[in-house]
Amino acid sequence: MSTAEEPTRVVVVTGAGSGIGRATLDLYLDRGWQTVAVDIDPTGLADLADHPNVATVIGDVASERTNTEAAKAALDRFGRLDAAVLNAGYGGGGPLEAPGALDRLAEVLSVNVIGAAAGIRATAPALRASGGGAIVVTSSVSGLRGDPSTWAYNAAKAAQINLVRAAAIDYAAENIRINAIAPGGTVTAMTRAQVEHPTFGATIARRIPLGRWSQPGEQAEAIHFLTSPAASYITGTVLSVDGGLSANGG
Ligand code: NAD
Repeated sequence: MSTAEEPTRVVVVTGAGSGIGRATLDLYLDRGWQTVAVDIDPTGLADLADHPNVATVIGDVASERTNTEAAKAALDRFGRLDAAVLNAGYGGGGPLEAPGALDRLAEVLSVNVIGAAAGIRATAPALRASGGGAIVVTSSVSGLRGDPSTWAYNAAKAAQINLVRAAAIDYAAENIRINAIAPGGTVTAMTRAQVEHPTFGATIARRIPLGRWSQPGEQAEAIHFLTSPAASYITGTVLSVDGGLSANGG
């Protein structure tokens, strides 16, 4: 609920059609925010077409145009922007010497790293116009370490973290806080095959001190926290939301 003194806050969420992004979008809506939902695949946003507090943008986050459209949608439809959750991403791996491996690397870097940089570029002017704001990039525990046959994703997720640190310094004077979360294994479309594998899912769970995979809503809570006034002195950091995996040496 907004008051004359406190306008309804507005957030852009990318990768909002599934998994962590959809849980994040739903959480912001539950907490009274207005939202711009961005995804390359319209399927997961179809049920939101007539939602009064959702504007949708269908496009690739690696393209500057999609990000510009998202920031414009926030201003045109809701009149301001307070936060951006740059969450769209995916992995890719396989042997480094496999055919097409460098093309896969370029693709994974493009969605995760160019996507996050383009998202910061496009939303910063609207955040500045609001007197400041917050950006959260969904990195991964895979950005903090190496995993077997996951080099492209490891490289991209690590690059996101240092992008966040550097951008946080550049934008701090304008009160635009920029942080990352590093989720551990979370039950989404991206990981469903692993979770449902007869042994793999349970093997991973045993390595996690809390003993289980994360649910997307648990990642959404951390993201929301980082964009809230409660996190007003937090910028340039990476918040692990991994059930203690990194505390346990990864
Ligand atoms: P998901 O597959 O459920 O959702 C990803 C969404 O992003 C999909 O709706 C997809 O259509 C969209 N998307 C993909 N590429 C896009 C692009 N180029 N432009 C716009 N939208 C695009 O996966 P998820 O697990 O919710 O992943 C969300 C983020 O969390 C990703 O950045 C992922 O790397 C990260 N992450 C996931 C896990 C996990 O275990 N699930 C762990 C750590 C980090």
